[in-house]
Amino acid sequence: MIDVLNLTKAGLRDWVASLGEPEYRAGQLDHWIYREFVWDFNAMTDLPRGLRVRLDSEARIGIPKTVAESASVDGLTRKILLRLEDEHTIETVLMLYQDAPNSPELEEPHNPGPDFKRRTVCISTQVGCPIGCPFCATGQAGYIRNLSPGEIVAQVLAIARMASPITNVVVMGMGEPLLNYDATWQAIESLTDSERLGLGARRITVSTSGEVPGIHRLAQEKLQINLAVSLHAPDDAVRNVLVPLNRKYPLKELMPAVREYSARTRRRITFEYALIDNVNDRPEQARALALLLKGLLCHVNLIPLNPTPGSPYQRTPYGQVKAFERILQGAGIPTTLRVEKGIEISAGCGQLRQVEERKVGARQLHTV
Ligand code: SF4
Repeated sequence: MIDVLNLTKAGLRDWVASLGEPEYRAGQLDHWIYREFVWDFNAMTDLPRGLRVRLDSEARIGIPKTVAESASVDGLTRKILLRLEDEHTIETVLMLYQDAPNSPELEEPHNPGPDFKRRTVCISTQVGCPIGCPFCATGQAGYIRNLSPGEIVAQVLAIARMASPITNVVVMGMGEPLLNYDATWQAIESLTDSERLGLGARRITVSTSGEVPGIHRLAQEKLQINLAVSLHAPDDAVRNVLVPLNRKYPLKELMPAVREYSARTRRRITFEYALIDNVNDRPEQARALALLLKGLLCHVNLIPLNPTPGSPYQRTPYGQVKAFERILQGAGIPTTLRVEKGIEISAGCGQLRQVEERKVGARQLHTV
């Protein structure tokens, strides 16, 4: 049975034509799915009854089932556990901010209140992750498979129905998106298509652990999305441990690719840097980082390491975090300390992982 979420706009038109239907039926389907968030063919009232019956028997709209949901204490972060058709589960996170939607994507929110102007969805691109960063719960749980384009876009749709309008999407959940490039890019095209979700390309950020060929490819695309790089160390020795992909694509390959991306797109690159006690948080490492990023249009997000159960890594004490930040700022590198949204529900960076329902504690998630 075909999942229409896996079809590009042209693919949907071709498929509709193969059913002997006029082309405009594809537009009607897109409108119901991506604008009205209606995922039952029988409820698409402007389609002829005969076509609705046929669609119902030959196709599906693959919105995963929400099997659990949790909210942070302040209610501003909600983690949703979605079950895919093959029973694997993935996590998607909604983050609410009061500042304007065109603010830099990953910066600190200001005075969160009831009027949420920025509604960011953090989506996954793989079930698990093959990169295996030792401080990351997802990486430690291993890799299972890539998501399809429909499974990626469906996460935004599922959240959009409960918290529309979605203003921003960060591709920063489970998985390395550039290792699932084609599906990720097709999903981004659906997110940005004016007849589908219609998000501005500049409201979308793809985060990579440093998959260099994917960065080169991304630089050639027409849509100018934001790029974030999980850097976490200014030298290969430490980065080889923290981000094992660095052994394949060391900094001497990664940094030119990132500089090329910035030069071609004129987009500011975000570097994520999880501060880990006594591993990557020393003053000389801050100075090395400043040197590495010198002259690059960029921004550094310092993230005190999110605690994950069983990890030997500890977060950097606050005083040292501020000292690290001061060194970068003193060297002229725009730097912010990321507000730790959703830590108590394990929805922070490096905390997403596949969770089986039976393992979920009542304190953390409730079944909806
Ligand atoms: S930090 Fe990102 S790249 Fe590394 S294992 Fe976790 S999900 Fe994968």
